[in-house]
Amino acid sequence: MEYRFLGGTGLRVSRLCFGSLTVGPLQANLPVREGAEIIRHALYAGVNFIDTAQLYDNYQYIKEGIAGCAADVVIATKSYDYTGKDIRRSLEEALRKLGRDYIDIYLLHEQESELTIKGHWDAVEELIGAKKKGMVRAVGISTHSVRGVRAAADVPQFDVIHPLVNMRGIGIMDGTPGEMKEAIAHAFKCGKGLYGMKALGGGNLINERKEALAFALSIPGLASVAVGMQSTAEVDYNLSVFNGRQVTLEMELAVSRQNRRLHIEDWCTACGRCVEQCGQGALAVSGGRVAVDRFRCRLCGYCSAVCREMCIKVI
Ligand code: SF4
Ligand code: SF4
Repeated sequence: MEYRFLGGTGLRVSRLCFGSLTVGPLQANLPVREGAEIIRHALYAGVNFIDTAQLYDNYQYIKEGIAGCAADVVIATKSYDYTGKDIRRSLEEALRKLGRDYIDIYLLHEQESELTIKGHWDAVEELIGAKKKGMVRAVGISTHSVRGVRAAADVPQFDVIHPLVNMRGIGIMDGTPGEMKEAIAHAFKCGKGLYGMKALGGGNLINERKEALAFALSIPGLASVAVGMQSTAEVDYNLSVFNGRQVTLEMELAVSRQNRRLHIEDWCTACGRCVEQCGQGALAVSGGRVAVDRFRCRLCGYCSAVCREMCIKVI
């Protein structure tokens, strides 16, 4: 496994970052022990970087997965808080649930532009204070927009940017893959540490997995690429691609059997909360329940976070 420094943070991360959304309740909803085993499988193979978020509700998987090797693992988490008080509470929750004294990377979740960053400045100042006290090692944003990357590049207080980028531009709010690559190059020149997300377009590029991962790995400014994994077969596949080894037919077959889709349970009450949550416009209430447009859906699972009836699954 190749490792790179994440900008000027001093953090040395594996090129493959374990995207943990997939194992937890918003997606595969694996038993904690099973999800932790998959994380451990990746760690034993040299992955030292795990991406999570308060929204993913999966800190317990990570705590169990890193038991015994926690000091060597770099963890990035994020939350939507915009006040200092709220982000302090979220940071304390992350520390407590992960069983750590510090969080390596704490990000403001899904920032779109300089305007949203400005609106979250109270939270940024709290994180900077936490960094001075050693509770956080690096601060930054995650973003689905080119404008967000460019805005964060200009903020001296930010160390890390976690942009959405993939070869088809699936999920980029305001530009093409080329424009996102240019923004990443600019931020890299500004000294930011960057690691990519949604290289597989939230599952939509699974059939072009090898090409999609190669695209993400070819972007010079990205120190690492977070890839969601929910089985040891997916970990092994990704390790082969990231390590430049041949992907065997058995590996291809093992991951291709895992076709995923968004499933809405019969007990959906058509309340519409998930429709409002979906930034992709992939959901609509129709005929007394919610219908999914599979061409728009990125399988991010964010809609399931707001469903009080637990109707939404990625299966
Ligand atoms: S419907 Fe929207 S929020 Fe739900 S998984 Fe698909 S893209 Fe994500
Ligand atoms: S939030 Fe849940 S219950 Fe409400 S419309 Fe969406 S799937 Fe149905």
